[in-house]
Amino acid sequence: MGSATAPTSPNALCFSDGLPSTGLPCHVEISADGLTVRFDEHNGLGEVNLPFRALSVSAGGLNHDQLVVRWGTAPSTQTVYLKDPSLIRTFRSAAPPELMKELDATAAAVRRARSRNRMAWGITAGAIGALMMGIWFSMDLLVGWAVDRIPLDWERRIGESAYQDFLIQHPAVKDGPAVAAVQEISERLIAHIPGNPYTFEVAVVKSEVVNAFALPGGYVVVFTALLQQAENAEEVAGVLSHELNHVLERHALQRIVKQLGLVTTVGIIIGDQQGLARVMKQIGVELLSLKFGRSQETEADVTGLQLLHRSHIDPSGMVTFFQRMTQKERGGVEWLSTHPMSAGRAQRLEAEIASLPKTAAEPFTFKWNTVQDALRPVAVRG
Ligand SMILES: [Zn+2]
Repeated sequence: MGSATAPTSPNALCFSDGLPSTGLPCHVEISADGLTVRFDEHNGLGEVNLPFRALSVSAGGLNHDQLVVRWGTAPSTQTVYLKDPSLIRTFRSAAPPELMKELDATAAAVRRARSRNRMAWGITAGAIGALMMGIWFSMDLLVGWAVDRIPLDWERRIGESAYQDFLIQHPAVKDGPAVAAVQEISERLIAHIPGNPYTFEVAVVKSEVVNAFALPGGYVVVFTALLQQAENAEEVAGVLSHELNHVLERHALQRIVKQLGLVTTVGIIIGDQQGLARVMKQIGVELLSLKFGRSQETEADVTGLQLLHRSHIDPSGMVTFFQRMTQKERGGVEWLSTHPMSAGRAQRLEAEIASLPKTAAEPFTFKWNTVQDALRPVAVRG
């Protein structure tokens, strides 16, 4: 082979005036006397022998975990960065104590800076955490604040478009005993809502699905299968009263504000009319599959029972209907998927009924079996 220097793989990076600004890989060897820096023989730089007394050291690199060895005098200083921990250990054990004093001072400064950084980060993380907790706790308050500022005609427009879309797909029953009965029950309830800002519309829709729902702005839909399953008018009144109270408590709007996010909602309230048009379409579709939260259901239950009581309608109909539907556990009872009758819910309802002062119920003008007869499919003669 003939070459005086054996090829060695680079273990450090050298910097100096004549070298690329990104550094040139080099090989460093440490002996008792000092440092030997050897470059690849092809670039003709050969090797440099440096006694320890010619060197100065500092900590370097992004994480200050590299040993920077410097020699020469300005402007022709040269540096080599040692990254390999075992190479750095070898350097430390071979170097005279005077040289290492300098490095230890640097290392101590780096450790102090790191610890300050850690503390600063700790404080920042703590502050962010506290802020998030604050936002979390005040979120319901903020949602309430935004909902209170949604104008009534806004709410009506949102609800009405979803209601009309639904009725195109499922035409409302125009007249007959069922429609008249639902109207009478609704009117009795609505008449007992103090300071009612809504003009409620209640539609009866022919469907095999046992369901009823209310949309923002006061649009209520009752399915014929629910009327068929009800054993008396008080049970229907229980469902209607619950649904009316979802509207009165603006539960759908609370869900919408939470889904849209507060920033979007506040922007719309402040007057982003285009934003309103954009979200109206989206909301309209989602309203029909909107699920209320558990606390909203409890609120609709409790205020619903109170409304039944004020309207002189026996409030136990709400409980008996839910319980019977749960016991049946048959398909098609859509209402139960959004209103599961848990033991806790039954207990709350019964406790609430027990707490209401006793009053005599006023009967309705219709006979419930007449209503049900009218809903029964007419037998086709063979
Ligand atoms: Zn509900």
